[in-house]
Amino acid sequence: MADLRITTTGGTDTVLDEATVQGFKTSVRGSLLRPGDAGYDEARTVWNGMIDRRPALIVRCAGVADVIHAVNFARTNNLLVSVRGGDHSLAGHSVCAGGLMIDLSPMKSVRVDPTKQIARAEGGARWRDFDHEVQAFGLATTGGTDADTGIAGLTLGGGLGWLAGKYGLACDNLLSADVVTADGRLLTASTTENADLFWGLRGGSGNFGIVTSFEYQLHRVGPVLAGMVIHPFERAKEVLRFYRDFSTAIPDEVNTMGALLTTPEGLRVAAIAVCYNGSIEEGEKVLRPLREFGPPLADQISPLPYTVLQAMMATMFPRRRQYYWKASLMNHLSDDAIDTMLEYFSAVPSPHTVMGFQQLGNAVNRVGPDETAFSHREALYDFLMLSGWEDPSEAERNIRWTRELNDAIQPFLHGGIYVNAFTEDSKQGIRAAYRPKTYERLVALKNKYDPTNLFRLNPNIKPTV
Ligand SMILES: Cc1cc2nc3c(=O)[nH]c(=O)nc-3n(C[C@H](O)[C@H](O)[C@H](O)COP(=O)(O)OP(=O)(O)OC[C@H]3O[C@@H](n4cnc5c(N)ncnc54)[C@H](O)[C@@H]3O)c2cc1C
Repeated sequence: MADLRITTTGGTDTVLDEATVQGFKTSVRGSLLRPGDAGYDEARTVWNGMIDRRPALIVRCAGVADVIHAVNFARTNNLLVSVRGGDHSLAGHSVCAGGLMIDLSPMKSVRVDPTKQIARAEGGARWRDFDHEVQAFGLATTGGTDADTGIAGLTLGGGLGWLAGKYGLACDNLLSADVVTADGRLLTASTTENADLFWGLRGGSGNFGIVTSFEYQLHRVGPVLAGMVIHPFERAKEVLRFYRDFSTAIPDEVNTMGALLTTPEGLRVAAIAVCYNGSIEEGEKVLRPLREFGPPLADQISPLPYTVLQAMMATMFPRRRQYYWKASLMNHLSDDAIDTMLEYFSAVPSPHTVMGFQQLGNAVNRVGPDETAFSHREALYDFLMLSGWEDPSEAERNIRWTRELNDAIQPFLHGGIYVNAFTEDSKQGIRAAYRPKTYERLVALKNKYDPTNLFRLNPNIKPTV
């Protein structure tokens, strides 16, 4: 090892001598990687192919002790820090340029207590790991709709998913979390211990520390009645109007997504995807109007193991494609909003781009706005503008289209955003992710737990001390 140039929180570089870096290396059970080391490029590679950053050091943590050593090392040397969970942040927050990347991806264990219906999962697990373990006991909890996404970032931002109609957000099912805070302490946060921190972890993103493990409430789930109905784009207006009416009058067992997309065969279509989480017989009755409407070009709804449903979306958004996404919350889908969507989708520049809605869910809407840091509880949908393309030279055209759509759709939106869709170029700014009172409370929490803003590569709540 030689002396190491590394970026500080102030954005300037500093040099760490070889002995200092070597001391850190021997203090951890996992590995410490520098540019050129085997595994370095793999460890810095995140889901979004637009992101290409080179940390000066990557610590691949093997356990809680490594996370504590990494936080202490970063704080003592005033280093720029990024924290990697499942690496699905749109903005690539989990990888920094020039600083220290604290990589939790080796920490994926999931321990299930089937009797108490509780699971404890480490901070680097993805929903694929989690669902695999809990479904062995016929259990699950609300998780992202793409099994490749990390449990950490998703839960800390809220967590929308197929089971949300009945069980709320992923964060609503969080019972406790173990957190390494900026001062290097390991705290447990729950309703009875460090309750202020527990409130902030449920929607405040990665601002308050590194969560080494999450404890979730599980529920009996599966098989589910789920899949998509697909209609020709020419009928999209009626389909989206039907979607609006259907999605606003559903029992808790149902959650929905509505979308405009292009099939692998190159056909533009309007699709409605659903999951019914209850008895298949009852689900057949509840979903009948959806399946009869049209009729659809294709009806792919069938009884499925929950893990099969969860695996479907990862194929739609493969790793390392170029992505530029915008999303904003929506309360009501008006006819004018539908017309705007159709106008833009008619000129969509890439067949990999999807426009649509993810429903928050009945149980999500019933939680009070002050109960968790995820405070936009009244919103019905997250309106998604998910642009994807293969050739980097197509970036300008695709980004321009997404931004223009985002501007045009603004009059029909709620005004707030889902924090997990936040990127630094979000026009609304980070405050839009919260009610004003919630934001103030988050700032107070940041002042208490991370006054120097060590954890800043995230939808950042800036401390005021
Ligand atoms: C293809 C795709 C599908 C998606 N589907 C859904 C969906 O169905 N529902 C939904 O709600 N969201 C969804 N999202 C959004 C997703 O919730 C966010 O992108 C989320 O931040 C991803 O978390 P991660 O751990 O994978 O990402 P990362 O990039 O690793 O982390 C995201 C943020 O969390 C911080 N972080 C990561 N791990 C930890 C930790 N252990 N402790 C503290 N902070 C940490 C990071 O520093 C970063 O700021 C989707 C995103 C993608 C790309």
